[in-house]
Amino acid sequence: MLTVDAALAAILEHVQSFAPNACPLSDALGLTLAEEIVSGQDSPPFDKALMDGYAVRSVDVRSGTATLDVIEEITAGRTPTKPIEAGQATRIMTGAPIPDGADVVVRVEHSNFAEDANQVHLETTDQSPGTSILRRGAAMKSGETILPAGRVLGPQEIGVLAELGQARVSVYRRPKVAVLATGDELVPIDETPRPGQIRNSNETMLCAQLRRAGAEPVPLGIARDDREDLAAKIREGLKADILILSGGVSAGKLDLVPSELEAAGVREVFHKVRVKPGKPIWFGVLDEDGKDVKSGASRRFVFGLPGNPVSSMVCFELFARTAIRRLMNIDHPEPLQKTGQITINFQHSGDRPTYHPAKIHWTVAGPRIIPLPWQGSADLRATADANALAVFPAGDKSYQQGDIIGFVQL
Ligand code: AMP
Ligand code: MG
Repeated sequence: MLTVDAALAAILEHVQSFAPNACPLSDALGLTLAEEIVSGQDSPPFDKALMDGYAVRSVDVRSGTATLDVIEEITAGRTPTKPIEAGQATRIMTGAPIPDGADVVVRVEHSNFAEDANQVHLETTDQSPGTSILRRGAAMKSGETILPAGRVLGPQEIGVLAELGQARVSVYRRPKVAVLATGDELVPIDETPRPGQIRNSNETMLCAQLRRAGAEPVPLGIARDDREDLAAKIREGLKADILILSGGVSAGKLDLVPSELEAAGVREVFHKVRVKPGKPIWFGVLDEDGKDVKSGASRRFVFGLPGNPVSSMVCFELFARTAIRRLMNIDHPEPLQKTGQITINFQHSGDRPTYHPAKIHWTVAGPRIIPLPWQGSADLRATADANALAVFPAGDKSYQQGDIIGFVQL
């Protein structure tokens, strides 16, 4: 049976990133930039006032006090019409362009305006040239590289791109991911289950995980454990970039997913991984003839996740998310394992590495990990208090409070 690392390597071997395409900047949060961004402008585009006050010549306020003639008033969005000469001041607001001749803005708090004489008396420590002025190009110069290709866009990068007028950016798009729950026992979440039935919680959970991972979920509802229904819904799901199924991949009598996927032309890459929870996970690819598979445009990927909710949740985070991040050309697509101290004594048993729901507390001395009480792969409730999965390697081992263990953040 494959190890987790071997399964991740098999996914990365089969999944290539999308070709870049342009998208509106407002939709680009979390996407990877496919082009280097070079500034086409200086920022600020003109010498600008950083305070409300008076633009003056520093030589006129060198002694700390001065009475000056006010020659005009400039608010943000307007431009000065008169240069400042000896003995003159222009009333100026934050963000407005500095008039020629001025090299200091004296804050309004240091001023006293005499309306009848149209004069301002200044008593100030704002004397050195450049005070309260941001010079043109001080933050960014035309021709300067601002963002490298490969940067994952967060709100700050998007803010700078907006400042540059980059209303569209070249990025790797969000994969469309179809979600198909399988099982005769499932009912939609807004219905009351009859005896023997349960709600289809996996669909809503997986769609939320997809959104968090940056993908676009396409929920397909419930397929019954019946070849015809399953085959029809698999065909529908194969229109997406990735199809994620939940349930029907283990050894039960009605576990029809692997055989129906293969009947639909999906080639198995692996079935079963040495991991707990989630051992029966299935992964395969569908190639359409005659298209450029390398671009990722025509290759489809399929994950059959075990139906137990924690198995679905964990296998999504470990495996499906890795494929999504690879398509989106995100650096280091696989789950990032960190380490920290376990806060309790803990016994791990079993021959599979275990991803155990856990609570991380971030302290100044590093992360502290509390494994939560957990009844196994059907106990989704335990995960509601978890913000991580503690990773225990295969084998029986007693961990002592303070031991260093691995974890993956959720
Ligand atoms: P299976 O993988 O189909 O054998 O299902 C394993 C367990 O997960 C069974 O107890 C199912 O009832 C449960 N299960 C399967 N699909 C879902 C789902 N969509 N939502 C919640 N539980 C599910
Ligand atoms: Mg089932």
